[in-house]
Amino acid sequence: MTSLGSYVIRFQSWDYDIWPLATEALRVCPYKHDLSVGELCDLTRQTAEGRYIKVDIQARVEGSNLGWLIHTILNRVHRETYWPDRIAKMKEPDLCRMTPYIEFIIEDGCCSVASSLHGRWISHAELAPLPLDGCNSDHCRCDYRCHSHRRALQAHPEWFDRGHV
Ligand SMILES: [Zn+2]
Repeated sequence: MTSLGSYVIRFQSWDYDIWPLATEALRVCPYKHDLSVGELCDLTRQTAEGRYIKVDIQARVEGSNLGWLIHTILNRVHRETYWPDRIAKMKEPDLCRMTPYIEFIIEDGCCSVASSLHGRWISHAELAPLPLDGCNSDHCRCDYRCHSHRRALQAHPEWFDRGHV
């Protein structure tokens, strides 16, 4: 039986239906669990609101990996709401003039796709919503950092050596 539903959460300034994402996250979840889609939606909303999920509820996912499910959902929401907006802003002519160089940066725990781009110069045309396609980390903290010409030259002289800027 297919269960169709909807569960709209407020995420920053966006309303987003997380039901399809919760359904998919439960389907691909590598950990055993006994959560329904509705329960996972509730828990995801509580996390997005900054509320703490009790340990006994976290334990309903094998290895207390409830966070894997929740972050898989919230990463997708972030990617489809916040990122298109942020990228549009990064492409605005005034900002491009002030900070023409963009660096891909990561923090610990990023996936191999993100790690392979660490420190790379990214053209405006290449900007993609994060997490990247193929990301398999539930807590990837990759990001873009915009540099002025002077700062780019200090931080990454090799970009200029290679002549690709
Ligand atoms: Zn990643």
